[in-house]
Amino acid sequence: MQNQLFIDGRFVDALDGETLPVVNPHDGSLITEVAAASHLDVDVAIAAARRAQPAWSRMAASERGRLLGRLADAIEADRENLAGLESRDTGHPIRHTRTLDVPRTAACFRYFAGMADKCEGSVIPVETGFLNYVVRAPIGVVGQIAPWHFPLMFTGWKMGPALAAGNTVVFKPSELTPLSALRVAELVAEAGFPPGVVNIVTGDGNTAGQRLANHPDVDKIAFAGSTVTGRRIVEASRGNLKRVQLALGGKGANIVFEDADLDAAVQGAAWAIFHHHGQACIGGARLIVHDRIADAFLERFAALARSIRLGNPMDPETEMGPLISATHRHRILHCADIARSQGGRVIAGGKAPDDAALANGFYVEPTLVEAQPQHRAAQEAQEEVSGPFVTVTRFCHDEQALSMANDTPHGLGSGLWTRDLSRAHRFARDIRAGMCWINCCKRVHPASPFGGMGESGHGREMGFEAMRDYTEARSVWINVDAGIPPHFVR
Ligand code: NAD
Repeated sequence: MQNQLFIDGRFVDALDGETLPVVNPHDGSLITEVAAASHLDVDVAIAAARRAQPAWSRMAASERGRLLGRLADAIEADRENLAGLESRDTGHPIRHTRTLDVPRTAACFRYFAGMADKCEGSVIPVETGFLNYVVRAPIGVVGQIAPWHFPLMFTGWKMGPALAAGNTVVFKPSELTPLSALRVAELVAEAGFPPGVVNIVTGDGNTAGQRLANHPDVDKIAFAGSTVTGRRIVEASRGNLKRVQLALGGKGANIVFEDADLDAAVQGAAWAIFHHHGQACIGGARLIVHDRIADAFLERFAALARSIRLGNPMDPETEMGPLISATHRHRILHCADIARSQGGRVIAGGKAPDDAALANGFYVEPTLVEAQPQHRAAQEAQEEVSGPFVTVTRFCHDEQALSMANDTPHGLGSGLWTRDLSRAHRFARDIRAGMCWINCCKRVHPASPFGGMGESGHGREMGFEAMRDYTEARSVWINVDAGIPPHFVR
């Protein structure tokens, strides 16, 4: 298991020898210690990225694509190992890391491998006698900071477009989940990337992350994490006015209308919140259900929630593993207590499982709380919960549902379940969110832009939008007639 920093093509210890513990959320045991980068280590990584950048950006785009394709192949070939690492480190069940996280990461690198030589410029129709063309040039050195949600997938989402566009990167995974990124570093080395193009520094956010954000020789910072940290990133980036891309928290609404296919809505709403234990920025944490079908919906939804198999994430039968840390477990239990104290009805969960085999892990039962709008309003004022905790609120007419859905400063992903086509389009237009899923949930694809608005941030992962976000439009003018341009003549 790799536990050193990856800088300039080599694995090295932190200069001061500091390390961070990596804890297994299933039982609280120590998996390993990884290097904790100091400011100095980050500076060395940034210098390596700067040295490597000119040659990387001048390499034929198809050659950059070929290397990214080799990395995608290597990730696929390493599926069992990567899936196991990710499950141990994050608590995410192996049935999902094997079938979703690893293939999606490979698919993302492969998509941007193909994109590398398709990022075309344009010719602008200006006055006769002049040629004006625009090229999409790389930004330079990019600092990338990832959360503990889906840490492996974030290597693809962040590094794929940045590298394809000709940037070099210094990537910092979360201190809670550094292991899969370090394995990707080994695969980067095996795939033959030149030294310094990819650098991976593990370490604490306030030290390594902060240094990346405030470093004067970083041209862009691409951050994914909480809205609170996002604000600090913006502050830290002010020194050299570097570009900032923010992928922040979500608090998505999931609306079930009275004409919905109830079975599909129940299954979809459960996947939306309970996949990866609700630890997803696009988790469907707020269910808004039409009063006419609410009882029938809740009965089925609660039965499904209670039937989810909790257990060791390494067991292929497990459907839900532990939360990432004891702090997060405490937070979910605390939210259930708040709901109870406000008169909310805890319909399922709201406690740690009774199973003694799970007692040392950070487990919480899938939790469903029915809250009145006034309770929900209180809850909205809180931070994103990020766990298997879903509130259900009833509505009676469409306008009420829309206003509940938009009653949040976040705007990432929302879903709705209806058979009424006009209503579906109307809500897709009016819900304030970067992504809207109709009769489905949490769909993502490397070709489709992913990102938020409002306090969910700005900029996009994936798709051509991501390539745009990692390039500068540079405009070049040529005097085609080669004479003295008209305004120069007295
Ligand atoms: P976090 O903000 O605590 O940490 C995210 C990353 O920032 C970590 O790598 C951390 O080390 C680093 N960091 C912390 N303080 C820093 C600082 N002062 N300067 C620079 N870096 C710093 O978030 P988290 O708890 O790791 O992740 C959960 C959050 O991420 C949730 O809010 C979730 O919604 C959000 N998220 C958003 C997206 C998206 O695409 N919008 C995707 C996944 C997760």
